[in-house]
Amino acid sequence: MKYISTRGQAPELSFEEAMLTGLARDGGLYVPAEIPQMSHDDIAALSGLSYEETTFRVMRPFLGDCFTDDEFRDIIAKAYAGFDHAAQAPLKQLAPNHFLLELFHGPTLAFKDFAMQLIGQLFQSALARRGERVTIVGATSGDTGSAAIEAFKGLSNVDVFILYPHGRVSEVQRRQMSTPAEANVHALALDGDFDECQARVKDMFNDFDFRDGVKLAGVNSINIARVLAQVVYYFSSAVSLGAPHRKISFTVPTGNFGDIFAGYIAKQMGLPIDQLVVATNQNDILHRCLDGQGYYKGETIPSISPSMDIQVSSNFERALYFAYGRDSGAVAQLMDELASGGFDVSQGALQALSETYDSGRCSEAETLATIKAQLAASGDLLCPHGAIGVKVAGEHRNPAVPMVTLATAHPAKFPAAVKDACGIHPPLPTQMSDLYDRSERVTRIANDLTTLEEHIRKHISK
Ligand SMILES: *Cc1c(COP(=O)(O)O)cnc(C)c1O
Repeated sequence: MKYISTRGQAPELSFEEAMLTGLARDGGLYVPAEIPQMSHDDIAALSGLSYEETTFRVMRPFLGDCFTDDEFRDIIAKAYAGFDHAAQAPLKQLAPNHFLLELFHGPTLAFKDFAMQLIGQLFQSALARRGERVTIVGATSGDTGSAAIEAFKGLSNVDVFILYPHGRVSEVQRRQMSTPAEANVHALALDGDFDECQARVKDMFNDFDFRDGVKLAGVNSINIARVLAQVVYYFSSAVSLGAPHRKISFTVPTGNFGDIFAGYIAKQMGLPIDQLVVATNQNDILHRCLDGQGYYKGETIPSISPSMDIQVSSNFERALYFAYGRDSGAVAQLMDELASGGFDVSQGALQALSETYDSGRCSEAETLATIKAQLAASGDLLCPHGAIGVKVAGEHRNPAVPMVTLATAHPAKFPAAVKDACGIHPPLPTQMSDLYDRSERVTRIANDLTTLEEHIRKHISK
C-alpha cells in the first residue's frame, strides 16, 4: 500500500512513513494510491463485533506490511482502553430515524481522541522498532492539543510541545493540557492568538537546522493516519443500523474537513452511504464552495463552536484531488491561487463534489435554539458543534433513510454556551470530575521563534 501526494511532486511513501512525515515535501497531503475495497460480505461480517475488532478489519488493508497483525491488535487495545463507554462510539436515538453518534467518550471528551489515541500508540511502536525519537510540536485552539497531550503522555520515544493562545482557550481545555504530570508533555501558553501559534509552528518546520536537530514531527489534522482512524466509526455505526443491507446517511460538524473526508473514504471502500452532509457554523467557506460560489477566504468570526472556526479547511485539498479525477497538477494550481485569495471550482469537479456532499450552515442563534429544542424533545444535551450537525441534518435528511449525526464533543467541554442556551451547566463525566482540583503546569512564553526554539531544545528528553 503506497501513499501519494495530492500535488504529485513528493516521493511515494508507506503508511508508516506518511504518518511520521505528516505534510508532503511538495506542500501536498498524502492519500492512498488505491482505496481498499470491502465487499458486501466483509461489511456484513462486522455486525456485532467490538469497536476494536472493527478497527482492525477496516484499517488493516491501509497499513500494508508496516505492522504485524499482533502488533496492530495490541496497539488498538491500548488506544481504546481509556474510553469511558464499553462501545467507544455508541449510538443514541434522537427522533424517528435520526441518530446521534457519540464520539466524546475518550479521555479529552472530543472525537479527536479516536485518531490521536491510536496514532500515539502507532508512533510509539514504529519509533521503538526504528530506535528513533521525535519531537512533536503543534498549535491548538483547544481540542487537538488536549487530545495530543493525553495520547502521547508517558510514551518513551516522543516529546510533545503544544502552543495555545494564552487566555483564549476554555478552562476545561486548558486544564486538560496543563494537568498531566508526565515529563514528556509540555503546554506552552503563547502571548498571541491562534494564527500566531500556527505561524510559529510553521516557522519551526521551515527552520531546517532546528527541524532536523530535534527531529520535528507533526500530528495535525492533515496526518493521513488520523483521517484513516476516523473511517472506522462510519462502519461501526452504519452496520449497527442495518448496513450493508440498507443505505445510511451522515451529517458531520465540519472545520478542517478531516472527519467528513473519512466518511468519503468509507463510501469509496464500499459502505453504502446515501448522503454525506457538511455542516458549518457562520464560518461557512465550505458551504459557499459546495454551493457553487467558489472557495474564497474571508475573516474568521469567533463563534460558540470554536473548533469549527476556520478560514481555510486544510483537508478539503484531498476532496478536491478526487473531485478533479486525481489530477495533481490541477490541485497544485488551485493551491497557488488560494495563496492569493481563492479560486473557482471547475464545473466537472463541482459536479463530482455535489454527487458526494450536501452542505448547510447554522447561525449562532440557531445553534443555541437547537440545544434548547433537543433538550426538550429527547432530554439530550448537545455541545454547540453537535447542535450544528443536528440542525443541518434536520434540514437535509430523507426521512426514509437513517441519518447519523456526529456528536463531536461532550457538552461539558463547552459549558458556557450550553448554559446560555438552556440554563443547564453540564457536569464533567466522573472520570474527570477532579479536573478542577488537579495542579497545573504550563509555561507562558513570548511570541518569538528564538525563545520557543531554545525552550524546546532545553526541555526535550535526552
Ligand atoms: C475538530 C473538531 C471539529 C471539526 O472537525 P474537522 O475534522 O476539522 O472537520 C468539530 N467539532 C469538534 C468538537 C472538534 O474538536
